[in-house]
Formats: sequence, C-alpha cells, structure tokens
Amino acid sequence: MDFNGSHPVASAAARLCRSLHDHSPSWEDVACPECWDAALLADKEAATEAGLDLECPADTALVDEVAVSRAVAGEAIELTVAEWHAARSALMKRRGVCVRHAKFLLARNVTVVDALGNPLTPPVLGVAARGVASTARIVNLASQARTRRKTARRASFMSTAAELAA
Ligand SMILES: [Zn+2]
Repeated sequence: MDFNGSHPVASAAARLCRSLHDHSPSWEDVACPECWDAALLADKEAATEAGLDLECPADTALVDEVAVSRAVAGEAIELTVAEWHAARSALMKRRGVCVRHAKFLLARNVTVVDALGNPLTPPVLGVAARGVASTARIVNLASQARTRRKTARRASFMSTAAELAA
C-alpha cells in the first residue's frame, strides 16, 4: 500500500496534519510521518473494536445521502465533489432552479472538499465539476491553491512588518 492519497487512511492523516501542523496535503505528500502513524493507529484500533477487516479502500464516488439532504436543507456542511453534484441535482429538481442558481444556493452553506479534505476554491471546484481530472489531480490543485494563499498572506505580513520596522 502506497502512502499517498489512495491509502485508506489518507483522508484522516491529511485532516490531522492540516489541523495540527498547518500542512497543505497533496496526493504525494499527504501528511508528516507522525500524523500518518497516528491515523494508522486510530484506524487499526477502530477496526479491531468493530471487528472489521483492516484493509478498507476509500471510495471517492460514495455519496452520503444524509449529508446531501442536509446541504439541500441549507445546513452548513462539507461535501465531496460527488455529493455536491447530487445536492445540485436535488436542488434543481426540488426548487425548479437552473444549474447556476443551484450552485449559488449551495455556495452559501456548503464547503466542497477533495478526497483529503482540502477545501476547493471556486476555480478548482470548476475543474472538479467537469469530471475530467483525476482524484489525485484535484487534490494537488487544491493543495497548490492553499499553499499560494498561505504564501500571499505571509508576504503581505512581512511587508507590513517591514513598514512598521522602518
Ligand atoms: Zn503532521
């Protein structure tokens, strides 16, 4: 099993490393060794407790119907790209609105995340919505967008600090 985005616990490791170490998970660089170990251990313990098989591959096309209904009802929630598609169709059907209107409505309460839990910026979501890019590609686009925002924030902080010091 490769330690990249395809690993069954990649999403858990990525979420942990993002919150603990402010890491921007990419497909190849999901998390630091410490976070991988913590996620692997937690997964093993949960599987042992529930008497499940240890190898349970992640399915990015899986749609959580409950999450979709909550999104359509206007609750603040994270959805995968597949779930976001389902929520959009459900809204269009239920409210009789067009695609753009459905997207606009969802943007108010839904955060669309990639397979590793990275929030998707509107341009990356646009790429994901067209369905032509691989799961790994989407993760890396989201990771790059997050790194760029972080770098921009740091640059603006440094220039402010330099002005104050002058
Ligand atoms: Zn970490």
